Amino acid sequence: MRLHGFLRDQHLIAGLGRMLANEVCHRAKLSPFANTSKLTRDGAAKVVRAIHDAVEDGLAYERTRSEMSSSKDRPGRVHGRVGDACLECGAVIRSVSYSNYTVAYCPACQTDGKLLADNTTSKFLK
Ligand SMILES: [Zn+2]
Repeated sequence: MRLHGFLRDQHLIAGLGRMLANEVCHRAKLSPFANTSKLTRDGAAKVVRAIHDAVEDGLAYERTRSEMSSSKDRPGRVHGRVGDACLECGAVIRSVSYSNYTVAYCPACQTDGKLLADNTTSKFLK
Protein backbone atom coordinates (compact mmCIF):
# COMPACT_ATOMS: atom_id res chain seq x y z
CA MET A 1 0.00 0.00 0.00
CA ARG A 2 1.21 3.52 -0.77
CA LEU A 3 2.19 5.50 2.34
CA HIS A 4 -0.13 8.43 1.55
CA GLY A 5 -3.09 6.09 1.07
CA PHE A 6 -2.18 4.16 4.22
CA LEU A 7 -2.17 7.35 6.30
CA ARG A 8 -5.55 8.41 4.92
CA ASP A 9 -7.23 5.03 5.42
CA GLN A 10 -9.59 5.69 8.34
CA HIS A 11 -9.75 1.95 9.10
CA LEU A 12 -6.02 1.95 9.87
CA ILE A 13 -5.45 5.36 11.49
CA ALA A 14 -8.49 7.51 12.22
CA GLY A 15 -8.31 11.26 11.85
CA LEU A 16 -5.60 11.90 9.29
CA GLY A 17 -6.85 13.64 6.15
CA ARG A 18 -5.12 14.77 3.00
CA MET A 19 -3.31 17.66 4.60
CA LEU A 20 -1.85 15.66 7.47
CA ALA A 21 -0.94 12.80 5.15
CA ASN A 22 1.06 15.28 3.03
CA GLU A 23 2.68 16.79 6.09
CA VAL A 24 3.53 13.42 7.66
CA CYS A 25 5.21 12.13 4.48
CA HIS A 26 7.29 15.32 4.28
CA ARG A 27 8.30 15.27 7.93
CA ALA A 28 9.25 11.60 7.67
CA LYS A 29 11.22 12.43 4.48
CA LEU A 30 9.47 9.58 2.69
CA SER A 31 7.80 9.47 -0.69
CA PRO A 32 4.01 9.64 -0.48
CA PHE A 33 4.11 6.65 -2.82
CA ALA A 34 6.50 4.64 -0.64
CA ASN A 35 5.36 1.03 -0.33
CA THR A 36 4.42 0.53 3.33
CA SER A 37 5.28 -3.17 3.23
CA LYS A 38 8.86 -2.19 2.35
CA LEU A 39 9.29 0.41 5.09
CA THR A 40 12.22 -0.29 7.36
CA ARG A 41 11.79 -0.25 11.13
CA ASP A 42 13.54 3.13 11.10
CA GLY A 43 11.19 4.36 8.38
CA ALA A 44 8.13 3.23 10.34
CA ALA A 45 9.47 4.97 13.46
CA LYS A 46 9.92 8.17 11.44
CA VAL A 47 6.30 7.95 10.29
CA VAL A 48 5.04 7.55 13.86
CA ARG A 49 7.17 10.49 15.04
CA ALA A 50 5.98 12.58 12.07
CA ILE A 51 2.31 11.86 12.88
CA HIS A 52 2.84 12.99 16.48
CA ASP A 53 4.69 16.14 15.43
CA ALA A 54 2.25 17.12 12.66
CA VAL A 55 -0.80 16.62 14.90
CA GLU A 56 0.91 18.46 17.77
CA ASP A 57 1.76 21.43 15.56
CA GLY A 58 -1.82 21.50 14.24
CA LEU A 59 -3.21 21.49 17.78
CA ALA A 60 -0.79 24.23 18.85
CA TYR A 61 -2.05 26.34 15.93
CA GLU A 62 -5.71 25.69 16.85
CA ARG A 63 -5.07 26.72 20.46
CA THR A 64 -4.10 30.20 19.23
CA ARG A 65 -7.53 30.63 17.67
CA SER A 66 -11.03 31.16 19.05
CA GLU A 67 -12.68 29.14 16.25
CA MET A 68 -11.48 25.96 14.62
CA SER A 69 -9.80 26.59 11.26
CA SER A 70 -10.43 24.62 8.10
CA SER A 71 -7.52 22.48 6.96
CA LYS A 72 -6.84 24.68 3.92
CA ASP A 73 -6.08 27.61 6.24
CA ARG A 74 -3.73 25.71 8.55
CA PRO A 75 -0.04 26.31 8.04
CA GLY A 76 1.70 23.42 6.34
CA ARG A 77 5.17 22.62 5.11
CA VAL A 78 4.03 21.18 1.78
CA HIS A 79 0.21 21.19 1.81
CA GLY A 80 -1.09 24.36 0.16
CA ARG A 81 2.47 25.37 -0.78
CA VAL A 82 2.84 23.86 -4.26
CA GLY A 83 5.21 26.04 -6.28
CA ASP A 84 6.72 27.60 -3.16
CA ALA A 85 10.17 26.83 -1.79
CA CYS A 86 10.52 23.98 0.69
CA LEU A 87 11.17 25.35 4.18
CA GLU A 88 13.69 22.58 4.79
CA CYS A 89 15.78 22.64 1.62
CA GLY A 90 14.55 25.40 -0.72
CA ALA A 91 13.49 23.08 -3.57
CA VAL A 92 10.15 23.77 -5.26
CA ILE A 93 7.20 21.93 -3.71
CA ARG A 94 5.47 19.77 -6.34
CA SER A 95 2.12 18.10 -6.61
CA VAL A 96 0.98 14.91 -8.22
CA SER A 97 -2.55 13.67 -8.86
CA TYR A 98 -3.27 10.23 -7.58
CA SER A 99 -6.63 8.46 -7.40
CA ASN A 100 -8.64 11.69 -7.52
CA TYR A 101 -6.61 13.50 -4.91
CA THR A 102 -3.65 15.81 -5.02
CA VAL A 103 -0.49 14.99 -3.14
CA ALA A 104 2.03 17.75 -2.31
CA TYR A 105 5.65 16.79 -1.72
CA CYS A 106 9.22 18.03 -1.90
CA PRO A 107 11.25 16.06 -4.45
CA ALA A 108 14.56 16.93 -2.78
CA CYS A 109 13.45 15.91 0.73
CA GLN A 110 11.27 12.95 -0.17
CA THR A 111 12.04 11.30 -3.49
CA ASP A 112 15.78 11.80 -4.09
CA GLY A 113 14.89 14.55 -6.54
CA LYS A 114 12.63 12.32 -8.63
CA LEU A 115 9.36 13.86 -9.85
CA LEU A 116 6.40 11.60 -9.21
CA ALA A 117 4.30 10.86 -12.27
CA ASP A 118 0.55 11.37 -12.28
CA ASN A 119 -1.31 8.15 -12.85
CA THR A 120 -3.18 10.08 -15.52
CA THR A 121 -0.03 11.08 -17.41
CA SER A 122 2.49 8.40 -16.47
CA LYS A 123 1.89 6.51 -19.69
CA PHE A 124 3.45 9.46 -21.51
CA LEU A 125 6.47 9.58 -19.23
CA LYS A 126 7.54 5.96 -19.49
ZN1 LIG B 1 12.64 19.95 0.76
